[in-house]
Order: sequence, then structure tokens, then C-alpha cells
Amino acid sequence: MSERMLKFVSVDREPPSKRDAAARALDFHEIYADYIDAKAAEQAARCSQCGVPFCQTHCPLHNNIPDWLRMTASGRLKEAYALSAATSTMPEICGRICPQDRLCEGSCVIEQSGHGTVTIGAIERYLSDRAWTEGWVEPLKPGADLGRSVGVVGAGPAGLSAAEALRKFGYEVVVYDRYDRPGGLLTYGIPGFKLEKDVVLRRCDRLKAGGVAFELNCEVGVHVSFDALRRRHDAVLIATGVYKAREIEVPGSGSAGVVPALDYLTASNRVSLGETPPDFANGRLNAEGRDVVVVGGGDTAMDCVRTAVRQRARSVTCLYRRDRSNMPGSLREVANAEEEGVRFEWLAAPKAMGGSASAVGSVKASRMRLGPPDSSGRQAPEEVAGGDFELPASLVIQALGFDPENLAIRFAAEDLTLTRWGTLRTNPRTMQTSIPEVFAAGDIVRGASLVVWAIRDGLDAASAIHAHLSAPHHRLAAE
Ligand SMILES: Cc1cc2nc3c(=O)[nH]c(=O)nc-3n(C[C@H](O)[C@H](O)[C@H](O)COP(=O)(O)OP(=O)(O)OC[C@H]3O[C@@H](n4cnc5c(N)ncnc54)[C@H](O)[C@@H]3O)c2cc1C
Ligand code: SF4
Repeated sequence: MSERMLKFVSVDREPPSKRDAAARALDFHEIYADYIDAKAAEQAARCSQCGVPFCQTHCPLHNNIPDWLRMTASGRLKEAYALSAATSTMPEICGRICPQDRLCEGSCVIEQSGHGTVTIGAIERYLSDRAWTEGWVEPLKPGADLGRSVGVVGAGPAGLSAAEALRKFGYEVVVYDRYDRPGGLLTYGIPGFKLEKDVVLRRCDRLKAGGVAFELNCEVGVHVSFDALRRRHDAVLIATGVYKAREIEVPGSGSAGVVPALDYLTASNRVSLGETPPDFANGRLNAEGRDVVVVGGGDTAMDCVRTAVRQRARSVTCLYRRDRSNMPGSLREVANAEEEGVRFEWLAAPKAMGGSASAVGSVKASRMRLGPPDSSGRQAPEEVAGGDFELPASLVIQALGFDPENLAIRFAAEDLTLTRWGTLRTNPRTMQTSIPEVFAAGDIVRGASLVVWAIRDGLDAASAIHAHLSAPHHRLAAE
């Protein structure tokens, strides 16, 4: 067992309530735990100030990384934080959960020259956490009142970032969300061991204090009509994310014990928030003591396997139909999961669920190989004859990805045009949908993507809305 796993097991013998937050942070964030000033400065000083800041280009927010690294290296932490926050609404969140190996750090020239990347994400997180404890995080200051209002549907990173920017311009902003807490997938999708919930909620509290209004437990299309929202506001931003889970279509997949990934992760996140969801209490969404099989190879699958380990599952296996090098999830996450004792069955796909309708007992799987590329250019998995095998499973988690819900139907808005993938069609320059006063941002436009892209889109949408509502004919109408 690796050192990291030993640490996890030994610390977890104590009930979480008996451990303080600092000790919990040490369990799973070893890489950051010793980011004292000197260490951050030492890492930041490794930046060669190469003059070709690929890191900045490959950060979707174009964060001014070289400059804030230089400031960190010389101990000017407050200034470094201010610079990092100038282009990001959530630097401590991105520092924690951006797949840096695919973004800023992946293009660091030190990394490219084989000497290991400057740990940009860890430094960004360190600076921002320090800013929160030192009181360097400025309150949100609304701009002079413009007398116009914008409704934002969805309190995920896209909606929250847009709300912040719109409030700064001087709009009245109301954010509607069907959940009881803001944050979207930051709150209810991404597990607490990667992103602590208080870190998300303090960002939302800052927006509330700055005058952004939240209408929670309010599902647009159910509790309030989309038409009513359009009448209530001068512009509406749709930032509803993508939530329609893809399902395993094999015999027995309707058995009790076969559950969608997001139901499982949401229940676990509610537990971290101090609740006891009924389906966790009755065991349906609790992996403790069970043989767990997670089907899928993306980051959601990795979050499920790592959550199951923390819930003390008896065994945790990930089943993925392609091989390691073709999986969509981050390889860093796979390495983390492996260290924590997760078993991977590469090139394997479920064929049927064993057991009964009232309790799944196993996953019957077939061995796969990679055939010629399909129309998308990826090698298509093919079944290997005679390669069937069976895994014991009392909990099967389906993590096959998400599609958009049909918003034209849900919002009873026939004039809202969709793409062939079901996402909202927008003008990429103006971010307008087919309805001129309605804009869209985040996953509902891109399809399942990343937090940092949702932030980028939210900020761009706010600028686009401001440009639209500041146009001469709109100004005259308002006067
Ligand atoms: C399990 C999981 C783990 C992930 N991990 C990472 C990661 O580590 N790093 C990373 O960068 N990205 C990660 N992602 C992706 C990332 O979370 C998303 O790309 C990002 O949250 C999208 O932001 P968004 O604002 O577009 O949508 P969301 O965060 O999905 O927020 C949409 C909000 O809209 C609300 N809503 C939907 N419909 C309605 C309605 N009709 N009325 C009112 N409200 C509505 C929802 O309740 C939700 O709060 C992960 C995704 C998942 C599922
Ligand atoms: S926002 Fe993400 S990609 Fe950009 S610097 Fe921070 S960690 Fe890197």
C-alpha cells in the first residue's frame, strides 16, 4: 500500500467530526499542505520568465501568470493575489480543480524542457486562500445603478461569474436556481475532497453581500415560466449546465443498486454539508461495505471511485471500454485513484447486470479491443469473442457523461434554437441565442466542459449583455 493510501486509512479511522479542518486538508491535499510563503516563493522563482507565456495563452482566462509568479517570488503576495483576481472570479477554485496538466502547467516551458512544471495551480490556490484569511479579498462593489435588470438562470460558475460582472457594471441581478444552494456542480457535483464546500459558498456570500439577489429552489419552467422571466428582466442569461445522464443500456440495468453518478455524488456532497439525505441513510447511495463498480472513464467516474473509497467500500473497480491512454479523464486523477486502491479494468464494457431486479449482484462484462477509427477519428472499441467475465457488484454507478436537457421544451420556448447536439445555439461573438434578449453561457452552450471555461463564458456573456443593453436604441427605450 502506498504512503498516501496509508495516510488516508490511518487518518480516516477517526470520525470526520473529531478532526479539525486543517487535519482534513492534510489528508488529501498533501501537495498544497506545506505551501508556506517560502515554498510558494521557491516554486514561483522557478519560472524562467521566458517571455513567451504559453501558460497564459493556454489558461482560458489568460491569467497574467508570469507577473504574479514574479511578485510571489519576491514576497509581494498581496499584489500577486490582486493581479490573479483581476482576471478570475474564482482563483482559489481554479487553483484547486483546473486540470492544469492540460492547461497552464501543460504548456510551461520548464515542463517542456523536462524539469517539471512550475506548480501554477498550487500557487494560485495558496495566494487566494491567503487572501481570504488576511482580508485581502475585496467586497463586490456594484457600479452606479443603471436602472436595468438581468435575470440569470443557473447559479453555477458561468451564472455566478456573469452575475458578478453585471453587478459591477451597475445592473440589478437576480440569479435563479432549482437547487437549495448556489454553486451548481461546484457545490453538488465535484466532491468535497477536491473542492471544499465552504470555499464555494463564501464566494456566493460575497456576491449576496454585493447585492446579487438569489431565488433558490426556483426551477425555471416549473416554478416560474421562462416567459415571465423575460417580462421581468431587460435581458436573461441561460447558464443551466448539462444534466441528462447517459444510461447503460444492457439487460438488468434497471435493477435496484444501479444508480446515476450525479445522484451518488450529490448525496455525498450533501453529507459533507451536514445533511443526511434519505437515499444515503437507507443505503441506496452509500458505498460503505459494498463492492462498487463504476462504469465510465471520465473525471466524473474518477470522482465516483474516489468517493466510494472514502465511504469505505469493500472493493472499488472502474470499468472502461477503451484503454488508459484513450480515456477522457485526467491521468493525474487515475494515478490518484490507483494510489487509493481502485482497480481499473481497461478495455471492458458491461454486457448485463447479474442479480435480481431488487438487488444487483454483479456486472457481466466483455473484454474489448480497439478497432479502426470511427467517424470521430477515435478508435472504436470492439468486443473480443470469448472474453466475458463477471465482477461482484452490489452498487453500480453509471458515469457515462451528460447530455443537455431540451430547453426549448422545458422552457416552452419554441423560438429557442438548439444545435444538433441539443446545446443552445448562440452567436459566438454576441453570445445571443435565437431570441435577441436571451444570452447563454457555460456547459449548456459548450456541452460538458470545465469550470474555468464556464467562468470565461460567464464573463464574456456579461460584457455581451452590457454591450447589447448599452446600444443606443436600448438606452432610449430605458429613458
Ligand atoms: C462530477 C463532476 C466533476 C467535475 N469536476 C471538474 C473538475 O474537477 N474541474 C473542472 O474544471 N470541471 C469539472 N467538472 C465540470 C464542471 O463542473 C462544469 O463544466 C461547470 O460546472 C459548468 O458550469 P455551468 O455554470 O455551465 O453549469 P453548472 O455548474 O452545471 O450549473 C448550472 C446550474 O443551473 C441550475 N439549473 C439547471 N436548470 C435550471 C432551471 N430550469 N431553473 C433553475 N436552475 C436551473 C442547476 O441547478 C445548476 O445549479 C465536473 C463535472 C462533474 C459532473
Ligand atoms: S485558471 Fe486554471 S488554467 Fe488558468 S492559471 Fe489558474 S489553474 Fe491554470
